[in-house]
Amino acid sequence: MYQDKQHRIALISVDGDPAIEIGQEEAGGQNVYVRQVGYALAKLGWQVDMFTRRSSHDQAAIVQHSPNCRTIRLKAGPAGFMGRDVLFNHLSEFIAEFQRFQQQQGFQYSLIHTNYWLSSWVGMELKKLQPLIQVHTYHSLGAVKYRSVDNIPLVATQRLAIEKACLETVDCVVATSPQEQQHMRLLVSSKGRIEMIPCGTDIEKFGEISRSTAREKLGIAPDAKMVLYVGRFDRRKGIETLVRSVAKSRFRDGGNLQLFIGGGSRPGQSDGLERDRIANIVTELKLDDCTKFTGRLDDTVLPFYYAAADVCVVPSHYEPFGLVAIEAMASHTPVVASNVGGLQFTVVPEITGLLAPPKDEDAFTVAIDRILANSAWRDELSVAGRQRVEIAFSWDSVASRLTQLYTRLLAQPEAKPQIAA
Ligand code: UDP
Repeated sequence: MYQDKQHRIALISVDGDPAIEIGQEEAGGQNVYVRQVGYALAKLGWQVDMFTRRSSHDQAAIVQHSPNCRTIRLKAGPAGFMGRDVLFNHLSEFIAEFQRFQQQQGFQYSLIHTNYWLSSWVGMELKKLQPLIQVHTYHSLGAVKYRSVDNIPLVATQRLAIEKACLETVDCVVATSPQEQQHMRLLVSSKGRIEMIPCGTDIEKFGEISRSTAREKLGIAPDAKMVLYVGRFDRRKGIETLVRSVAKSRFRDGGNLQLFIGGGSRPGQSDGLERDRIANIVTELKLDDCTKFTGRLDDTVLPFYYAAADVCVVPSHYEPFGLVAIEAMASHTPVVASNVGGLQFTVVPEITGLLAPPKDEDAFTVAIDRILANSAWRDELSVAGRQRVEIAFSWDSVASRLTQLYTRLLAQPEAKPQIAA
């Protein structure tokens, strides 16, 4: 249905490469979102090109994921890992490369979907150069993030101004939860168009494995009380709260409690420092014997960890959406999460898991212990969590809602496809 050039779309995610390994520094939910949305849109017939920064000469410039879906890496600044807050200075080069790419291909995109504030700026600049419909997903809002961090970076003023301009001027902003939508209205601007379309998850990959099969594969005893964290090492993720709450659990001594902390880190980078900080707290609290740092969990093992766990904990200080919560629920595992942002939308307290105030280790201990203490109730939460994800959070349903949005926007009279001279 959408196979002509008119239905070619660009997903732009300068800082979040959809084709790289997930779980390390600055590679998390946004990368997964772009990749999965790209795949799912391609299945619906769109020609999807996902644009990101090429961070090393070893990386392929183009990765073809499926006949209709590819990642295209463009130069922006010198090779090597570049933190998000420095990347802004190199975006003009990215824009020039994007234009060169269109020129070479002989067409211009008529619709782009940008991700994170850096790419929103890229989109707004491109809009000055060619007719374009721009849809944007923030993934994180500076106005919310800076309320919960101690050191506000220099780039903050610029970011806040760009996020405001974006909401007020692009064709549509996609909020991934009602909470994010509310934050945009209260903290960013009362102007601009917002549509709420949640993030999704792979309901086939997550949810097929039974707890016993998963435990057998991972060598975890059937009677172990397994608490799981999955995510990046970043202070905002609140891993310290989880570790301190596990130390107070009544299952700690003699209860066969096991804490698994999943996620990668790079020595010397900030996530490596956070990992070391967490490891020191584990040692200080004498939890070394029952704690395992698994390192980065790739697609071949991640579904086993989710399926094996009794409870998955998402203790973030702030979370615009929080993919890990729905991945766990899809895997029949109840979630204990902070009562913040999108987690208030995905986790239904007492039905699919429990919510606790962020940084409140005592409240997390109580919530985790309630689930560990009652396996019949845990099973009820599991069933309800899986149902909730099937109904509300599959990538296919996300992609069809995005398709409806794009199609509506493209049908506007000013949105005709452009063929480059
Ligand atoms: N993830 C992964 N392997 C890991 C750690 C994390 O694949 O070792 C994935 C996880 O499954 C999820 C994403 O990284 O899809 C994290 O997304 P989330 O929205 O929870 O957090 P963000 O990284 O966006 O802050």
